[in-house]
Amino acid sequence: MAKREKKQFAVIGLGRFGGSICRELYSMGHEVLAIDKNADKVNEFTATATHTVVAEATDEKALTSLGIRNFDYVIVCIGEDIQASILATLLLKEMDIKNVWVKAQNHYHHKVLDKIGADRIIHPEYEMGMRIAQSLSSEKVVDF
Ligand code: ATP
Repeated sequence: MAKREKKQFAVIGLGRFGGSICRELYSMGHEVLAIDKNADKVNEFTATATHTVVAEATDEKALTSLGIRNFDYVIVCIGEDIQASILATLLLKEMDIKNVWVKAQNHYHHKVLDKIGADRIIHPEYEMGMRIAQSLSSEKVVDF
């Protein structure tokens, strides 16, 4: 890694979104803990994460035992189960983790995440659409 500061990331939820974040951070030389409740998913990441673990993100004891407090960033990438996403985010903020980034499913999910202190709320499709429109507009079509 070319003089980039090495950071510690925990990625919760290894679907397309969380999985791509995990792989990319790891390939950039960062320390990445990959977490999912599905063991088959977790097994897919043994070569593309520093550590992998099967855990339920809404289980406070499990999160604590992973030492998740020590991570610079935790990224919550749970999609369909909005309740689990909210509860996991709440637990992580109660643990005083400074940077909790969370994928939101919709406007209402966003509002709740905002209330409970998520540090960055991500709408992947919307943000990617904006980025592509900007690239198209500036004609840097080959640049993404
Ligand atoms: P994608 O990123 O592929 O679009 P998605 O938005 O459809 O994903 P899901 O497939 O619902 O989201 O969840 C993403 C991942 O999060 C899955 O691999 C799932 O097993 C994991 N996951 C869901 N709930 C929990 C939980 N409570 N604890 C840990 N992992 C979870």
